[in-house]
Amino acid sequence: QVGKFGTITPVAELEPISLAGTTVKRATLFNFDQIERLGIRIGDTVLVEKAGEIIPQIIEVVKSQKPSKKNGIIRPEFCPDCKYRACQNGASWRCINRKCPAQVCARLIFFCGRNQMDIDGVGPLLIDKLYGANLVRDYADLFKLKTKRERLLKLDRTGEKSVDNLLKSIEAAKNRPLARLLAALSIKLVGSTASKLLTKYYTDMDSLSTAKEINLLHIDGIGPELAWSLVEFFESKTGQRVVSDLKLMGVNMTQPEEQSGSKQIFAGLTIVVTGTLKNFKRDEIKQLITSLGGKVTGAVSKNTDLLVCGDSPGSKLEKAKSLGVEVIDEQEFLIRIK
Ligand SMILES: [Zn+2]
Repeated sequence: QVGKFGTITPVAELEPISLAGTTVKRATLFNFDQIERLGIRIGDTVLVEKAGEIIPQIIEVVKSQKPSKKNGIIRPEFCPDCKYRACQNGASWRCINRKCPAQVCARLIFFCGRNQMDIDGVGPLLIDKLYGANLVRDYADLFKLKTKRERLLKLDRTGEKSVDNLLKSIEAAKNRPLARLLAALSIKLVGSTASKLLTKYYTDMDSLSTAKEINLLHIDGIGPELAWSLVEFFESKTGQRVVSDLKLMGVNMTQPEEQSGSKQIFAGLTIVVTGTLKNFKRDEIKQLITSLGGKVTGAVSKNTDLLVCGDSPGSKLEKAKSLGVEVIDEQEFLIRIK
């Protein structure tokens, strides 16, 4: 089995057994070290347990076959799917071919998953079929399916009604909030939780995709590896194409404002920004203040509550001082938003 990042996971094919209410035919072996630890050979009788009552896994070998050349399990030199050379990474093996069909399908399945774009009726079987029929190669292709209704109908066992339902749920997925879209893109370390966090501060794809690593790190809960992974994705040709293709399909690229939840530390405050800032582009800091409940205006007046002052400020600083408006520097601003 090959995952969305190319990790090759050995899976045991079992004689079907009934276990805790379901029929079990396959069990994960996690990695190739695990196979050695258990000493499993093809044809062995094994003890299977359901981890957390859900995932079947092999606990031990009950009756072992005599070792022979035929029944040993070897580490994969090549990806079982695309036959590309596999690379070792610790205990796991990876296929490094980004176009590997198994990986592409795994990413597509994940994209449509309930916690991501939540596209009803698109599971592993359908993705395999769509891929096999050359109808879908990337995320954007899903949204082009409505122009290929005739070909969808020809895919076996898909009736008119189910095709229309499928197209309807794909169309509905265009309106998912940015947090879901971001979580769906299989960016390393960027899952649902990180995506929700990120889109609190960066409420549209443009600001998120051009965010600087250092600014991402100011967000509580975003570590350096994640920030780097995100920046790398948006700077890569692949990442940029993924985003622009989805944009072209009319997929929503914004995060609706949250009514509650995020700490609205600038709620009700009118804020002016002046001078050159080290950590923010002007648009970024405006976005950030807005997302924290503040209102950003261009000029200092008696209605201004706060002036954020960078290097070499102009007349705004003088004006603020004369009006008794509170002035903070960038350092203080960073402390307040922490
Ligand atoms: Zn492969």
